[in-house]
Amino acid sequence: MPTPQRVALLGATGSIGRQTLEVLRRERARFQLVAISGGERLSELAAIQREFAVKRVGVKTSAHRDALAALVPASVEIVVGDEGLSSLARDGDVVVNAVVGFAGLPVTIGALEAGARLALANKESLVAAAPLVATARRTTGAQIVPVDSEHCAIYQCLAGASTLPGHPDVRRLLLTASGGPFRGWGHEQLARVTRADALRHPTWSMGEKITVDSSTLMNKGLEVLEASALFGVEAARIDVVVHPQSIVHSMVEYVDGSVLAQMSRPDMRLPIAYCLGLPERLDHAWGAMDFASGFELTFEAPDRDAFPALDLAYEAARLGGAAPAWLSAANEVAVDAFLRDRLRWREIVDVVAAVMDHYVADPLNTLEALYDNDATARRLAAGNLPR
Ligand code: NAD
Ligand code: MG
Repeated sequence: MPTPQRVALLGATGSIGRQTLEVLRRERARFQLVAISGGERLSELAAIQREFAVKRVGVKTSAHRDALAALVPASVEIVVGDEGLSSLARDGDVVVNAVVGFAGLPVTIGALEAGARLALANKESLVAAAPLVATARRTTGAQIVPVDSEHCAIYQCLAGASTLPGHPDVRRLLLTASGGPFRGWGHEQLARVTRADALRHPTWSMGEKITVDSSTLMNKGLEVLEASALFGVEAARIDVVVHPQSIVHSMVEYVDGSVLAQMSRPDMRLPIAYCLGLPERLDHAWGAMDFASGFELTFEAPDRDAFPALDLAYEAARLGGAAPAWLSAANEVAVDAFLRDRLRWREIVDVVAAVMDHYVADPLNTLEALYDNDATARRLAAGNLPR
């Protein structure tokens, strides 16, 4: 048996984190979990440490460090904050970024600078830092493989495509969207959406932030930006197609009209296992389909009038530079306010639009510039919340 791959799993206590642990449990000989982190839920973090005998653990604050220290053996190293995340991201051959939001940035940058394979679930860091990630991923050995199901599908459908920059043999990328819980709803119904409504996703069970993003279609908007940064294809060549069954995870249309799609039942363990196993496929048929049972696949255009988040994301892509960072930061503030019952559902996208009206062009050449832009967009978003 070859030496196991060293895996760092940051955001181990979340939805993607837990599903990654399920994959690792089935593949103990192949992978060794060397580093984990979590934001809250310290007893869960301690249980993971114990189960996998993890040597290094990251937490958010020094108060969390003190509390965790009482739950794990003294030999375990506990690191704190952004610096801690960044150092853990340099530990693995494979680094799974399962942190939610802009807080995942140190993991993305750290893993790429260390020349690791980054299994990226945390789309917000890539969306916000695209110009900086483009530089960081040039490190020898660095590689990004997308955990996000749509992008993992496109990654697979691009196998065999031209390796020239921008994929000239690809006409367009087709990102599929379930449409979320409010597909087909009119403005009047949308005006009455509650927190519980928005947290009821029709096909996927996920963390709260991405579930709300799926209900506004901001998740799909972020995914357009994510796909553009990952594959070097401009947003004008990326289309969104609503596909309520969430079986076709995305598609690539080539210039000869041929369309390649990747399919499975919706199960995030499949893209996670794909990213961990590369270049091999792991022998667990998560998401396997039963064609004999008979089912339909349907496709339709998104309702861009009812879900203006999509157009906001395309506009941010057109502007480039720090505009996607502003979009994502404003959205994080607005979604957080919605989840704390401080904002109505309809107002989430209104807040983002109001912030984007103030965008001042910035090419985003440095990490300092990114943190400045993020802070400005957050401040403006907070100023647009109801008092
Ligand atoms: P989640 O809320 O379930 O988990 C988030 C994890 O990040 C937790 O471990 C939490 O403790 C940690 N965390 C939160 N705030 C932090 C902070 N400030 N500093 C450090 N750690 C922090 O989220 P999730 O649904 O697992 O999503 C994680 C990422 O994966 C998101 O970017 C999401 O868009 C993406 N994603 C998720 C799914 C899914 O099925 N859940 C699918 C595709 C992409
Ligand atoms: Mg997705």
